[in-house]
Order: sequence, then structure tokens, then C-alpha cells
Amino acid sequence: MTTIMIAEKPTAAKSIAESLADKGTLKVKEGEQGVKYYEFNKDRKKHIVVAAVGHLFSLKQVGKGWSYPAFDVEWIPSFQASRTAAFSKKYYDVVASMAKNGDEYIICCDYDEEGSVIGFNILKFICGKKNAKRMKFSTMTKEELVESYKNASKELDFGQIESGLTRHYLDWYYGINLTRALTNALKTSNKRFRILSTGRVQGPMLHMLAKHEKKIKAFKPKPFWQIELDVAVGKDILKAQYEKSKLWNKKDADDILKKSQVKDALIADIQTKLFTQKPPKPYNTTSLLADIYRYFGYSPTQGMSIAESLYQAGLISYPRTSSEKLPKDINYKKIISNLGKQKSYEKESKILLAGELKPEEGARTDSAHPAIYPTGEDPKKIGAVQKKVYDLVVRRFLAVFGKPAKRESQKIVLDVNGNKFSFSGKKTIDAGWTFLYGKYAQRDEVILPAMKKGDRLTIKKISQLQKETQPPPRFSQGSVLKELEERNLGTKATRAQILQILYNRGYIVGRSIEVTELGMNLADVLEKSASMIVSEKLTRHFEEECDKVLQGKMKKEDVLEEAKKTLIAISDEFKKKEKKIGNELTKAVIAAQDKQNKLGACPNCKGTLKVHKNWRTGKRFVGCSGYPKGCRTGFPLPREGLILSTEKICEECKTPIIQVRREGGKPFRMCLDPECKTKGDWLDKNKLKKIQAESKKSSADALQEKNKEKAKEAAKIKEKTDKEKKLLK
Ligand SMILES: [Zn+2]
Ligand SMILES: [Zn+2]
Repeated sequence: MTTIMIAEKPTAAKSIAESLADKGTLKVKEGEQGVKYYEFNKDRKKHIVVAAVGHLFSLKQVGKGWSYPAFDVEWIPSFQASRTAAFSKKYYDVVASMAKNGDEYIICCDYDEEGSVIGFNILKFICGKKNAKRMKFSTMTKEELVESYKNASKELDFGQIESGLTRHYLDWYYGINLTRALTNALKTSNKRFRILSTGRVQGPMLHMLAKHEKKIKAFKPKPFWQIELDVAVGKDILKAQYEKSKLWNKKDADDILKKSQVKDALIADIQTKLFTQKPPKPYNTTSLLADIYRYFGYSPTQGMSIAESLYQAGLISYPRTSSEKLPKDINYKKIISNLGKQKSYEKESKILLAGELKPEEGARTDSAHPAIYPTGEDPKKIGAVQKKVYDLVVRRFLAVFGKPAKRESQKIVLDVNGNKFSFSGKKTIDAGWTFLYGKYAQRDEVILPAMKKGDRLTIKKISQLQKETQPPPRFSQGSVLKELEERNLGTKATRAQILQILYNRGYIVGRSIEVTELGMNLADVLEKSASMIVSEKLTRHFEEECDKVLQGKMKKEDVLEEAKKTLIAISDEFKKKEKKIGNELTKAVIAAQDKQNKLGACPNCKGTLKVHKNWRTGKRFVGCSGYPKGCRTGFPLPREGLILSTEKICEECKTPIIQVRREGGKPFRMCLDPECKTKGDWLDKNKLKKIQAESKKSSADALQEKNKEKAKEAAKIKEKTDKEKKLLK
């Protein structure tokens, strides 16, 4: 008699076992290739916890072929579906060998659509069961795990399973069929096989960014003038602005400037206003990732993995949630008093515990999880990066309970020879929640000395400034997440990831998001030739239907039937115009891609060095266009990040210098030769030399293959140094 428990990840399996085991019964065992699983007694019954590593199953087409539309698809073990998932085999094997021994099953994966699908597939395909118990928890603290074990539901959460499955099928249908449509169109047009991919959410996301980029590009700046006074206020010099902040006419500006050339300004009026600032709303995924980006500069995918690790460590609640609400039953008082045991939050905790605890809340809800909150557990062993995000989550949580901040603003209106100028002061009367929020509450204080109407202030300087109107601002990685949430594009769990795909494909670049020529051209061709691919409305429509499946108001089968019909219509339209679309893609997209892939001249034969990709392994390397004529020049490339040409050549090794733009990190420049002197400080030379020596031994043709290995090594080493650098920051 054994209860088999299925956890989403190895760390989760460990926490669950440690929390539930009857005293002295926990045994850590090793299965296939050292994969751990946990055996223990709970209430004297034998339990085994096994771990998945995210999805152990993936959707794959039944049979072969590249025709579209294709809808015949099945779940197969991920390690059989793709090489990148090969590592999951050992976990699969351990689950498979343990699962047969059970008489009872409990799914204890993360409580959301993904977690439910992960657990359901394992149960169905490995254990051969249709139903099981389901644990539901929002934090991985011992207390909550024990509680959720006790209150586990007798049935699976079929709403989440079905809507999760619906989304997986939809993504597959769209991704595969649209990618095939584009790729086939290219092949019809130029007889070359080149994969051009898009997806259900990716297309509309790119299109939205491209539309914004067009607005920025089309923006015509308009000149305007400003008049500014430097006035002496007490010991300080403050800047006062002319009452109209923009003067569109130079002559007006000149007149005002001329008329204001006097020694002092008369205080004509003092307007004092008291105002309050409400506390912030609790964090959901979007606002947390946006703030992690804003305060620390980590990209949304990095931010997510940091938050995830804090959740796994039992320090914060589940970070994938739409909710902006904190339910009462999480026991505010206990969490806040526990946080107060940490020196940094001692004062804050005392202030809050002295009053009533009522959180500020937002409107968004989530049926599975509350807004993100700290558990109150003491973070003993966390790294510097995690520490930052932890502090942000704690301070935000505390601030949510704070009193409104009271502030006072003062506008001092000056009369300067008949012209009106003004400057302002701002001061805090009662810090309220801003004290609890600490350094994240960025309030500007300009404290003015006492002044009264009729006083005169000395004018130190008067200046005329010429400026111009600015285009709409670019999205940052944080603000784009908020925009996507507003538009209901993607989900809390997928937005960050899809954004990353757009970066990886070279459609967008930069911390302030800029759409590349490639991205612009692709969005344009898609909009013209098959507008449904980039339709936000359609994507949103299916998003809403998935929600209906979740609530049991719609059936998965009906949503998928509708999706098939839509895709058949898109495919028909596409096939009719295939050649034309192919020509346009070739002209605009492939041309831009080629341009992006050209890195410069070969130092050996003057051919062109280009980025190549092994489409089987996905690895990139640099090859020479002189290869067919016998030039064997080749270089490794970092595994991740966008590679851009700089049109410069390294003085030392004469290879082109490239720019590598990688998520989160600063863009950096390097030459292509991994052995170049200029890299002495950041590459592990010995390792590279060894690889180099080996590749020299092999025949010229095998060099390309080796280069790819080198690329991997170099990228690994670079990644390691990057990580270390980041931690040192
Ligand atoms: Zn060459
Ligand atoms: Zn060099």
C-alpha cells in the first residue's frame, strides 16, 4: 500500500517530502542516473514523492510530412519529441518505475493550468489512471503543505486541466501550421528551405510592437521654446518656468525674454494644496516583473526565474497569478510579525501591528492564487540577486497595508514685469505607506523656506531654451508586459517567454524595445497577406474561450473545432496567394535576415562571413561564403543573444567585430576569433586551446562540426563569467 505523489520539480518534491514525513521516516533514494525521489511514512502509510521537470510530455504530429493544415497530433514523451528535452528521460524513467507501485495517487504540481496538465499527463500516460487526489497550495511552507495534504480534493481539477490542454493544442495548431505556411511560401518562391516561424500570440505581439515602431518612426518633431528663470530662494537657486510650458513661436519667446530682463520677481500668489497618495496594489505577475525590471534591470524571463526560486524556497507565494487581492485567510498578522523578526523590517512591522490590518487591493482576480506575498519565513540562504527581489516583495506587501501618504504641494507664482512664472515645492506631511515601501517609494521633495505674497526674489539668470517634441516613448520590457496584460494578449505564464522568443529571433532588440527591419518587414507582409495571423482580436477571442473552458462553460472540443475551421480558412487564403506571399517574404524578410546575418569579410579569402544555424540542433556558427571554393574559415558564436554586425574589424586578429545583445545584460562587442588576445580577460583560454587543438587535428570538413562545439563551450564560459559578474554587481 503506497501513495504516489507527483511534484512538478525536484526542489518541490524535496520540500513536500520534508514537510509531510512522520518523524524519522524520510529516506532520500536515488533512481536512474542519480535522480532523487523520497520515501516516507505519513500517518504511518508509505508515501513516495517523485518529481517531474516541468512537462514530461509534448505534442507531436502523428506521422510525418510537412503539409498544412495539420491537426493530427498526440502526446509523446518529451525526450522523444525533441533533443533539447533529452535530459528529462531520467526523470521520466524514475516516475515510470515508481508509479506502478501505487494504490493511491496525489498530484502536487503547482496549482495552475501548466501544473495541472503536467500532473494529468503523467497520471494518464505513465500511471494509467484517470483521476487522483489534488493538493492545492500557494506557498511551499511546511504549514501550508501539511494543510493542503490534509485538505486535498478527491478529484482532479478538470477545469484547469481542460483549459490547459486547450491552450496547448491551440498553440500547436497555430505554431505548426502558420510556420509551415510561411516556410512553404518561401520555398515556392525561391526554392530554398528556410524555416520562418510565428505563433498564435507571437504574431499579434510582434504586430503590436511594429505598429508602435511605425508611430515612432513617422513622428515629426516640432520645435518649441521655453523661458526659464533662476531665482534665489533662501540659499538655493531654483528654476521657475514661464506660465506656458511650450511657446510655438520664436518671436513670442524673444518678446517674453526681452520683457523679463529685470532684477527681481514679485511673489504674486502662493497656492498650497494638500493631497493624499493611496498605497500601491499588491503584486501580480505582471506588476512584479515590471518592477523587477524597473528597479534592478532583470528581464521578465530572468525576473520570473528569480521569483520562482523564492517560491521554491518557501519565501514567497506562487508568482504566477493575475490577482491583485490578498485573502484574509493568509493571516496578515502572523506574516507581518514574522517579517518583523528580520532586522530590516522590525520598525515597519511594529508600525503595522499597532493598527488595523486592511490591505489596499486592485480589481484583477485569479481563481487559483492570490496576489504575491511573502510567507514570513526567514530567508537564510539566498543569493544577492534573490535578496533584492525578496526585499521588493516584502516591502510592497508591507506598503499595501500602510496608511495613505499625506503630502503638500506649493506653487509660487511670480510676476516678472507683467509676465507670469512659477515654481513648486513638495513636501511630505505624513509618510504613511511610503515609509514602509522604503527606497522603492521614489518621492521628490523640494522643501521651500517660508515665503509670503509681496516678497521679492532676486533673478540670477534668465534663459531661453529651444526644444522639440518627442515621439511616443518606446516600450521597456516592463511596460510592454503591462500593455499585453491590458490587451489580454498571452497569459501571465507565457508573456515573458514569448517576448524572449521575439528577441531570440532578431525581431526586436534593446532594453527600450526597438523593432528591427526584419521584424517590421515580417509584420508588414503578414498584415497584408494574412491579417488573421496578426489579429489581436482573434487571439483574444481564443484566450476568452480558454477561460470559459476553465469555468466549465465551454468544451475543449468545441474550441478546437472552431480553431481548426479558422486555420483551414487562413490556410486556404494563404495557399491561393502562396507564390505572391513567398515573393514578398523573400524580398522583405529574407533580405533583412540576410543583411542581419552578414558579419563582415573573411580575413583569409575576402569572402563574406555569415551566421549559420544548424536547424536540427539550433546551434549557430559563423561560416565563410568561400566554403564551396575551399575556404574553411569558421568561428563559434555565443549560444544566446542577437548577433549584429558593427562593420568594424579587430586590430589584433582582423576578424569582424560583432555586437551581442542578450536579454537582461548590457550589449557587448567582441571579435569572432575566440583565441584573440583581446579576450584574455574573459575567456578560459586553456579550455579553448584544447578545443582548438582537437579541431586542428581533424579534417577540414569536420571543422564546421567542431566549431559548433566550440561555440557551445565559449558560450558556456561566457555565460559563467556573465553570471559571476552579475552577482558581483
Ligand atoms: Zn573565407
Ligand atoms: Zn580579435
